[in-house]
Amino acid sequence: MSTDGHISAEAFRDALVSASDRGCAEQEELCALDAAGFDVDESTLGAMPQRLAVRSYLLTMKDPAADAVRQWGRLGYPRRALRLHGAARVICERHRGEVPDSVDDLLALPGVGAYTAAAVASFAFGQRHAVLDTNVRRVLARLASGRPWPAPAVTAAEVALAQSLLPARQDLAARWSVAVMELGALVCTASRPGCEACPVAAGCAWHLAGHPVGARPGRQPYEGTDRQCRGRLLAVLRDADGPVPAASLDAVWPDASQRARALASLLADGLADHRPDGGYALPDSR
Ligand code: SF4
Repeated sequence: MSTDGHISAEAFRDALVSASDRGCAEQEELCALDAAGFDVDESTLGAMPQRLAVRSYLLTMKDPAADAVRQWGRLGYPRRALRLHGAARVICERHRGEVPDSVDDLLALPGVGAYTAAAVASFAFGQRHAVLDTNVRRVLARLASGRPWPAPAVTAAEVALAQSLLPARQDLAARWSVAVMELGALVCTASRPGCEACPVAAGCAWHLAGHPVGARPGRQPYEGTDRQCRGRLLAVLRDADGPVPAASLDAVWPDASQRARALASLLADGLADHRPDGGYALPDSR
């Protein structure tokens, strides 16, 4: 504990890494079962990056993009499925089928940004990088900055803070990042932080200050939006074996102008093909 009553970076690291070890082992076991084809419930499988890692493992450049969109299912933001498929293609063409281990090479892959590159380099290759996802940003805002929410977008100060907390030892850095993610996902949740069970409560600036309120960054509505409309239309294409007539899309969204706008955006994003006979289908599907 430091003299100002806040937990030291070392104590924070030790408390979190040991608290997460058991949970990580359980998660790895579930992912292995899922990858091996056993029926693992998705809600049990847990964190999104681990689910996606399992799914991406199954994709190769030989699969049509439509398979990637189908595999993606209802995970949301379906453009990521196309980018993942594009990344698999580049990995096969430029890296002999091996996921590159350098952050620069990872950043050059379609759809890979700073978070994903750091996460892959850290978790797959054991390198020392600050991995800043939504949960980590919230934990660090509360713990170190005494604020309930992080800024709407990642700031240079947040990156510097996250890097300053990373263990110097490379072999501990990835475990540390998993531990902070897990703390944010399971304990320091957005709306109900479990401070009474938190291993770093004794040094948390926001907790010690009595949980002062702060404006929560705006959350995007979903009901009735173009995003929801896109999701309905894409579900029709995903669930069909081949092209569907326009009438099948008309049936799932009553607002014709919004439906036309959403369909145009799916076509522009490459998530749907307009067939010569007037039907619609997933990209590259037969
Ligand atoms: S003490 Fe509470 S607010 Fe602070 S990190 Fe733990 S769960 Fe989050």
